[in-house]
Amino acid sequence: MIRAQASIHRAALAHNLQRVRDHAPGRAVYAAVKADGYGHGAVTVALALSDADGFAVSSIEEALQLRWAGLAKPVALLSQMLDTEACDAIAEHALEVVVFHDAQLEALARHIGLPIRVWIKLDTGMHRLGFDCARADEIERRLSGLDAVEIVGWLTHLACADDPADALTSRQLAAFTQATGKRAGRRSIANSAGVLAWPDAHADVVRPGIMLYGSSPMVDRSAAELDLKSVMHLTAPLIARQTLAAGEPVGYGATWRTPETMPVGVVGIGYGDGYPRHAPAGTPVLLGGVRVPLIGRVSMDMITVDLRDAPDAQVGDRATLWGPGLPADEIAAAADTIAYELFCRLTPRVLFDIR
Ligand SMILES: *Cc1c(COP(=O)(O)O)cnc(C)c1O
Repeated sequence: MIRAQASIHRAALAHNLQRVRDHAPGRAVYAAVKADGYGHGAVTVALALSDADGFAVSSIEEALQLRWAGLAKPVALLSQMLDTEACDAIAEHALEVVVFHDAQLEALARHIGLPIRVWIKLDTGMHRLGFDCARADEIERRLSGLDAVEIVGWLTHLACADDPADALTSRQLAAFTQATGKRAGRRSIANSAGVLAWPDAHADVVRPGIMLYGSSPMVDRSAAELDLKSVMHLTAPLIARQTLAAGEPVGYGATWRTPETMPVGVVGIGYGDGYPRHAPAGTPVLLGGVRVPLIGRVSMDMITVDLRDAPDAQVGDRATLWGPGLPADEIAAAADTIAYELFCRLTPRVLFDIR
């Protein structure tokens, strides 16, 4: 009996990519596969998204995973520091690099050999990475003066696109248009929320991540409402069950007590697998198509569940922790985090299989 297992559904990835294309027709799609494909396996995801126009990762190390797997499409490095070795690797492997800091400009100025393709990142209000918009002219001039550098285009990142009512997004879009409007090159603004809620952010290249994996980035719409399909189906077996008398404690710290005589089940997954330890009592687990509530504390290898609504559940039955029928977004909300983090935090103990 396999313990905690994450099945990765390639057809769901292809479906979600089609949703991106429906929202942003005619735009190039760079699929965000950083952090090992948001914990789904970067190479698995990139191969399943063979229709994407390119990929976005954080670093050279992540990009090389894709190159070694034979993927030849554009790969953009979103937050890569530059020195001589980095520049050589980027040129050799034909990667694209996002430039957001003066130290990178200095490294690029020293680069010789095969040209490096660069995106210039402007800070339009998120205040994380990017040059001040007022420096667009200067940066463009400095980079276009370099023989071994080729400017692909201009990029920015939205801080609040997940909330359609947030005024910052419109200000960011206006700042970006003002700074880049008349310049040569491609433009890229939108993450998943930008794809779904901000048509003015679609520009030339969109950079969706979380929606490809089937989770909603929006504060006001669920994955089902957006017609996104869960890519990861996380399951684990019921490894024990017992009937407890009323008033008995369950689990570490005896934080939960049975209100009546009742069946209690133990599912073989815990925070040692990446299930969030802070998931509170009441967090849903799917067992035989029925939602049963988590009870007591999450431990390293196990969680306990209230089986009163699934009295026929047998040892060996597989429970779904998240996946079709139980969106990761719901578990994330219960555990006070986001699906991005749940996916990224699965540990190597989880067995992955690709469907
Ligand atoms: C991760 C990332 C994305 C994708 O964001 P999602 O919210 O997952 O769609 C896009 N652009 C940049 C710069 C990123 O770092």
